[in-house]
Amino acid sequence: MKLFLRFVFVMYALPIGVATAADKLELQKAADNVYAIVGELDNRTPENLGSNATFGFVVTTEGVVLIDVGATYQGAQRIHAVIKQVTDKPIKVVINTGGQDHRWLGNDYFKKLGAKIIAQKLAVEDHKARKRDQFFTLNNLVGAGLEGTNEVYADEIFDKELKFSLGGTAIELHYAGQAHTPGDAFVWLPKERIVFSGDIIYVERMAAIIDVSKSNTWLQAFEAIAALDPKIIVPGHGHVTTLETAKKDTYDYLKFLREGVTAFMKQGGNAADIGKVDQARFSYLRGYDILKGRNALKVFTDLEWE
Ligand SMILES: [Zn+2]
Repeated sequence: MKLFLRFVFVMYALPIGVATAADKLELQKAADNVYAIVGELDNRTPENLGSNATFGFVVTTEGVVLIDVGATYQGAQRIHAVIKQVTDKPIKVVINTGGQDHRWLGNDYFKKLGAKIIAQKLAVEDHKARKRDQFFTLNNLVGAGLEGTNEVYADEIFDKELKFSLGGTAIELHYAGQAHTPGDAFVWLPKERIVFSGDIIYVERMAAIIDVSKSNTWLQAFEAIAALDPKIIVPGHGHVTTLETAKKDTYDYLKFLREGVTAFMKQGGNAADIGKVDQARFSYLRGYDILKGRNALKVFTDLEWE
């Protein structure tokens, strides 16, 4: 009987313990009043509710500016719970830095709290174009965690740049070209010299070059960030970082891959043999085995059209 009870305890205790560990969003302080919320580096799961990315927020005297919202309503609630560890101030402005689900599908939750949502023009077009696909994928990967999620588009759009201030904190949004998605913009705090890069910068894990990515202009978007000489970068994936590490994990990789695929094409290589392009230099990045082939193939297609 004693043994049986212990067994029952373990059966009940284990799944709860596992879920708690997996759903954790890590709060990381970047500077005074500036924070990152670091999600998991791997794919969307029922436990992480699609929040497999890094988000950010700035606390001002008049309220909070949130950068990116998570891929689901429930995920957005969890992001808000992390913000509440720091402040009870209202979320006044929400920025969607790009077109991926985890940048915008949590909008509904924050809109209901009264936040104004801002995104780049092409990002909103991308939201509309890929909404169905994103819901389909999330339904497969997140399941019941998707319940309650509704698409809500930005209240205000911008083209090249938008500057505003909240509670005396100056905030700038810049668009420098198609990167991981067509409307990837970045957020710049000029006084603090901090960038929130969205999906323009990945650290610790390999950047995903997907159908809607464009590798040559992605490099230009990175260069626009580098030109500002930021002191601190809150990346789109991974922990708070420096320009040096961001360059090593994202820019150098994209450049290296484009050069490798260019050489491969010059030697007459065809798409079926794309696996022969050696990317081992970047095997330290998480997701290397899953992403390297797809990335090379997309760059191959990009280069055919350039
Ligand atoms: Zn992403």
